[in-house]
Amino acid sequence: MPVPTPTPALDSLQGLALGDAFGDRWFHPRVDEASAEYVARIPRRAPWGWTDDTAMALVLVDHLRRHGRVDQDGLAREFAAAYTADPARKYGPSMHQVLRRIHRGEDWRAVTSGMFGGQGSHGNGAAMRVAPLGAWFADDLDRAAEQAALSAAATHFHPEAAAGAVAVALAAALAVRSRGGAAPERAAFLTAVAERLPESDVRSGVRIAAGLPAGTSVRHAAVVLGSGYLVSAPDTVPFALWCAAGALDSLPEALWVTLGGWGDMDTTCAIAGGVVAARTGLAQVEPGWLAACEPLPTWTATPSTPTGTPPAARTTA
Ligand SMILES: [Mg+2]
Repeated sequence: MPVPTPTPALDSLQGLALGDAFGDRWFHPRVDEASAEYVARIPRRAPWGWTDDTAMALVLVDHLRRHGRVDQDGLAREFAAAYTADPARKYGPSMHQVLRRIHRGEDWRAVTSGMFGGQGSHGNGAAMRVAPLGAWFADDLDRAAEQAALSAAATHFHPEAAAGAVAVALAAALAVRSRGGAAPERAAFLTAVAERLPESDVRSGVRIAAGLPAGTSVRHAAVVLGSGYLVSAPDTVPFALWCAAGALDSLPEALWVTLGGWGDMDTTCAIAGGVVAARTGLAQVEPGWLAACEPLPTWTATPSTPTGTPPAARTTA
C-alpha cells in the first residue's frame, strides 16, 4: 500500500521534470547565448523530452511512496534497474558504470566509494533529483537533510555531492514552508539553507550566492558561482538555488532566469524548477509548455489544483 504522497512533493516533481525538459531542449540545436529566441523568451519547439534528472527523481519519489523513507539498498537497486530499462536518458559518464555494476549485483557501497580513485563522484546527479524529497519532508528540516544525504550516497560517495543534495532538499522544504505567505527574501532564503549545510564548497557557494548584491545579473552570478559547466555539485547547486531564490513566486520566470546561466541547463533548470514548484505548483505554467513536456506516469498527478493564476496564453515556437 503506497504511502500518501504530499501534494508539494508531487508539485516539486512536476516542476523538476518541466525544468529538466525545458532546459535540455536548449542544447539541441545549440544556439548562441544571446540568441534572438532566448532574448525574446521564445521556448524551443516541442517535444521537450526529460532526461536522467527526471528519471531518477521518479525513482526516488516512487521509493518514498512505498517506504516512507530512504532505504539505501533498495534505492540503489531501483536507480540501477531504471537505468537498465531506459539507459538513453543522458546519464553522466560515471553513472553508466556505477549503475551497470550495481545492476549486475555488485555492492553499491563498494562501487560508489571506488569511483574516481576512491573519492567517489562529486557530480550534480544527487542534487538534480532530490527537490521532491525535500518537499516530502518539509515539516522536519533535520529529517529532510538526513534523508537527502542518504539518497545521495546511493550513487555518489563524495561529501560535496551529498552537500549539494542536502542544499537542494532544504531549499525545497523551505519553499514548501513558505506557502501561503510572502516569498522569502533571496538572501535570507539562501542563508537559511547555508546554515544547515556541512562545511563544504557547496556551503561556501551558497553563502557567496546569498551575498551577491541585489541587481546582480544572471550572467555575473553564473560566472561567480559556476552554472554546471563542470557538472559538479559545487559548480551547479549554488547557482541554481540563487536563481530559484530570486523567483520563488513564478516557476516560468525561474526557468528563464536559470537558463540564462547556460552551463548544465537541464540540471540547473531541474533544480530551480523543483524548488520553486514546491511553493507555487504548476498553475502558472501555460498549457503550451505542459503539452510540450514529455508526460510523466499517472501516479505523479497532483490531487488538487495548486495556488496561482495561469498567465495569458502564449504560443510555443
Ligand atoms: Mg539530465
